[in-house]
Amino acid sequence: MSWNSLPPELQLEVFEMLLEPESNAAPDAAVPDQMAKPRILSTCAMVCQEWQAYFEKQNFKRLILHQDDVCQFGEILTRHQRTFLVRWIWLRIELPTYDCSRCGTPESTDEDVANKYIFTNAVWDLLGILSAWPRNKEIEQERRGLTLELSVHSPSDTDHYCQDLAVRVNDTAWSLHTPPPRVYEDKFHRWKNGHPTHYVKNNALLRVFGHPRGLRFDLRAPSARRWRRVLPKVGVVKSFKIRRQFFRHFSVAKALAPIIESLHRLVRFEYEPWRGIDTAKFKGKSVRDEEHQQLFEVLRSKRSLRFISFFEDLNPIYHKWNEYKRANRTLGQTLARTSRNLECLHAAMGVDAQHFFFAFLPGITKPPRDMRWRNLQFLSLYTSHLTLKGQDRLLCAAALAAKVMPKIKIFELWTASPQQPCIFVYGLTRRGPPQISLDSSWGARFSDQAIELWAEKAKLDNSRDELSVKYGDFGPWGIPDHIPVVQYLVTRKQLLSETSLQQLRNLIPG
Ligand SMILES: [Zn+2]
Repeated sequence: MSWNSLPPELQLEVFEMLLEPESNAAPDAAVPDQMAKPRILSTCAMVCQEWQAYFEKQNFKRLILHQDDVCQFGEILTRHQRTFLVRWIWLRIELPTYDCSRCGTPESTDEDVANKYIFTNAVWDLLGILSAWPRNKEIEQERRGLTLELSVHSPSDTDHYCQDLAVRVNDTAWSLHTPPPRVYEDKFHRWKNGHPTHYVKNNALLRVFGHPRGLRFDLRAPSARRWRRVLPKVGVVKSFKIRRQFFRHFSVAKALAPIIESLHRLVRFEYEPWRGIDTAKFKGKSVRDEEHQQLFEVLRSKRSLRFISFFEDLNPIYHKWNEYKRANRTLGQTLARTSRNLECLHAAMGVDAQHFFFAFLPGITKPPRDMRWRNLQFLSLYTSHLTLKGQDRLLCAAALAAKVMPKIKIFELWTASPQQPCIFVYGLTRRGPPQISLDSSWGARFSDQAIELWAEKAKLDNSRDELSVKYGDFGPWGIPDHIPVVQYLVTRKQLLSETSLQQLRNLIPG
């Protein structure tokens, strides 16, 4: 029986079987999953013309680029006119390796210079290539369009003090690579039974996170000089994403801002940075806050943007518990102004809703007239104030702010302070009345005033039905961490990528 004589549904089944992840296949340590699969698909694409059309589409859909591949990638895609097949480009930059003579110290000046050259050449070369790609209306109409993802790490980062990176180093935004179980027993780097036995030394962390000012471009690098030190305009990228996969900080002024300005049709910005490390020499968290302050200013002037997600992660191994309450006031206030033209905003950990709604808190005589969110449909914000003492003040201010969000569909606030998780949701559904809900581990209840204010908001959205009020109970909690709470959020899939959510889920004990 020939291939062509098979019924179309059977042909499709064969194609899909070849595309399925090989979850039961024996792991090949030398070939990560995301590298092995394209190789198989390339072979499939060579079988016949029909197979070529089908598998090429899959082959080119999502590409992972090492910096050494960038130029060749540009030539191949342009020469074979395959740019219209690409939906996701992950520029996965690898810095040089290092050994134990350097794993406990920050990068030297020479290493820093080398890293900046590698980073600059890779990003500028790729954006140079993308600037020449023709626009494609079909891709632009898709929700995500073409996504550019960026990451930087050294392959050695998994081998020394930050060995927790090893389980996620080969994850992609579309699949999790499950390495064989590994129990970290490493006296030199103080790991025992899969956990570090002491707080990791700051200098060892700086090696992996980099200086809190972040990795930046060096305009003396050849690729920057080729473009006369101004990044070319790229019109084909609609989404820009940085996942929590690696710890490396990026400079805003000298890396992220120029990239964002270059992507002049950017609609989605999804950013999952790591909190800065405080050391004797500098306050890493404050430095990162200053960087993010600049970032929000840059995003405010980006007229094309409709979606921002910002999740500043922290890790009990590397940060301290009391850091949950340390959101920066100015950062929240700036984000409130940045977000006024957005349709979706999700911000967590580094930003507190209490600061975001500053103009609506009791005591403020009248919010400024321009504090309105005319297009906002989905909003979720982290706060440390959904507590017995602080929740009523916040929920009343939030209700006043919600009144100047005429299109809002989901409005979610959440707290993850140790032992006291609490989630508030205002939601509109197609069927049923508007609803407010409060889920907590400590019996949180709305005040009469809060219910009244939210009922006024609900009336503006749906004058037919009465506001429904619901309460939920998490039961005894006892997990001093933000990670389990995230899994209960209605907006979790907008706040974090699916892979990041799964990575967090894997950290929950039991
Ligand atoms: Zn080492």
